[in-house]
Amino acid sequence: LVSRARKPEDTVVAVGSVRIGGGTPVIIAGPCSVESEAQTDAVARVIAEHGLGLIRGGAFKPRTSPYDFQGLGVEGLKILREVADRYGLKVVSEIMTPGDLDVAVRYVDIIQIGARNMQNFALLKEVGALSTPVLLKRGMAATIEEFKFAAEYILSHGNPNVILTERGIRTYEKATRNTLDISAVPILKQETHLPVLVDVSHAAGRRDILLPLAKAALAAGADGVMIEVHPDPSVALSDAQQQIDLDTFRRFMAELKTAAPAF
Ligand code: PEP
Ligand code: MN
Repeated sequence: LVSRARKPEDTVVAVGSVRIGGGTPVIIAGPCSVESEAQTDAVARVIAEHGLGLIRGGAFKPRTSPYDFQGLGVEGLKILREVADRYGLKVVSEIMTPGDLDVAVRYVDIIQIGARNMQNFALLKEVGALSTPVLLKRGMAATIEEFKFAAEYILSHGNPNVILTERGIRTYEKATRNTLDISAVPILKQETHLPVLVDVSHAAGRRDILLPLAKAALAAGADGVMIEVHPDPSVALSDAQQQIDLDTFRRFMAELKTAAPAF
């Protein structure tokens, strides 16, 4: 069902007035984790300032260590919804367990399935039974074929609104947190009809190379970019080393617009 051979035209996932795929690239920005109302509001204000329509933020966090900040849970979803509505934005947030989907659909416009859950088949089947759009991240050790099959699970259970997101794969290279597989972008665009985004923040794991990675993503045909933004990354409760502050985000947007005028 994901195959372009079967459906030649691009799938466009519409969320309010935002259209993902088949045209103007989108930017999904926001903090790694929702930490407070004030923190979320500060980021949302800058997103809206740029005429962008989507905010990301984790409320349920898949942390490597059980002792690290696990997210605010439903309280985080409520903050996101309230702040997003204030600025007319749509919400992207990760859900990790099928049991949280009922409450999630009340607050979230796009359900994110994180890299660690790309092959959580129970979760894929459950989001497949919804009509809420799903942003599916590539597993950190998943082949492109496995990534496509994960999306196939969602479509085959009835939900056609799937957005693929390349976020880097684990390799021997230690200069970056993951290795951005830029080849995945044109391959996924050729082989599937689904929108393809690139999450530059989780790919790089460092904030100094996000602009060139975003330019590369758009040049390779990506339908948009995801980037983590925090008012003060030095005190962020997760991914402090890769989030960019508000002024850096403003510069990022200005330079990306110059490099990719279509956007
Ligand atoms: C995230 O986007 O918050 C996240 C945890 O990313 P990934 O699943 O790609 O590691
Ligand atoms: Mn993060």
